[in-house]
Amino acid sequence: MSILIARPLIGREEEAAVLEVLRSGMLAQGPKVAELESAFAARCAVPHAIAVSNGTAALFLALLAHGIGPGDEVITTPFSFIATGNSILMTGARPVFVDIEPQTFNLDVDQLAAAITERTRAIMPVHLYGHPAAMDAILALAERHGLAIIEDAAQAVGASYQGRPAGSFGTACFSLYATKNIMSGEGGMVTTQSAEVAEKLRLLRNHGSRVRYHHDMLGYNLRLTDLQAAIGLAQLEKLEDFTTRRIANATFLNAQIKHPQITTPTSQPDVRHVYHQYTLRIAGDRDAAVRQLSAAGVGNAIFYPILIPHQPFYREMGYNTQLPVAEQTTQEVLSLPVHPALSEADLAQIAQAVNALQL
Ligand SMILES: *Cc1c(COP(=O)(O)O)cnc(C)c1O
Repeated sequence: MSILIARPLIGREEEAAVLEVLRSGMLAQGPKVAELESAFAARCAVPHAIAVSNGTAALFLALLAHGIGPGDEVITTPFSFIATGNSILMTGARPVFVDIEPQTFNLDVDQLAAAITERTRAIMPVHLYGHPAAMDAILALAERHGLAIIEDAAQAVGASYQGRPAGSFGTACFSLYATKNIMSGEGGMVTTQSAEVAEKLRLLRNHGSRVRYHHDMLGYNLRLTDLQAAIGLAQLEKLEDFTTRRIANATFLNAQIKHPQITTPTSQPDVRHVYHQYTLRIAGDRDAAVRQLSAAGVGNAIFYPILIPHQPFYREMGYNTQLPVAEQTTQEVLSLPVHPALSEADLAQIAQAVNALQL
């Protein structure tokens, strides 16, 4: 049996929570969704949280709630899951991609300022792999140019930057997809400091409706269900335990992995990195690393092999930005299992297999 790259941890708490909802007969958006929203807002130290059907919907609706649409530009990173760029396209706005910096894999804030034009409306930093982006510089730029900040915190629930939780810097989006640090199968959450944005989000996710069959604006059906919220609530209770185990697993691997061609992940001072992924840089034959790790029973994955603006349909739209750091990074990264279900024996096996790699 090989060690899986990701595995949701589901216990009796989740089972009991789902049964309770099933037996209540209230399956769609109801009291459990409201309960999850309150608990999530408290965890992120923000006044408002709005649950939606997935993380992509969270990003899309957050942009719409900030009034972003055709003619607008949103600056983001090319090195992320496709949903980051696509959510911007879905609104009719144009994503503008700025290169990353090599240590944290996040937006290079030194290059951000040069990408701002009179069309720029928002910055969408991604806290990739669970490491917060450089929020002080991003906040300063946003303030100076009157831009919204929409954090893609899909991989960063529980993370913090200079003591402030990820998700508390403006409007932020989380995913509760099955392999994220906490999950509800599928699910999403928007957190925001703004009462106005929160109210718009509640309308947007529910056909623009406050009172049933009265519709104030064009909206969507992107609601979360009480069944999912019940799972999310049980998971949120376990977030601290899951997170400390992820950090301990990463600390163990950092101490044990010693290979001349491999760089282990680092974390900047003053951040809490929650290790959604534990990602190596391989200077050597990465394909050989993939083959040898898989043969040794160690799950592994490349997040992400192709930059967003280099995906075929972005190329067709005319994207051909030079992003040298991100381009090199896609050639070098390899993620290893770091999830909280790993045993000590699993961790030892992972480190041993990495140290034995012939590259
Ligand atoms: C998972 C993820 C999303 C999208 O979330 P879904 O719930 O899968 O729609 C967006 N951005 C990043 C960085 C992600 O990892």
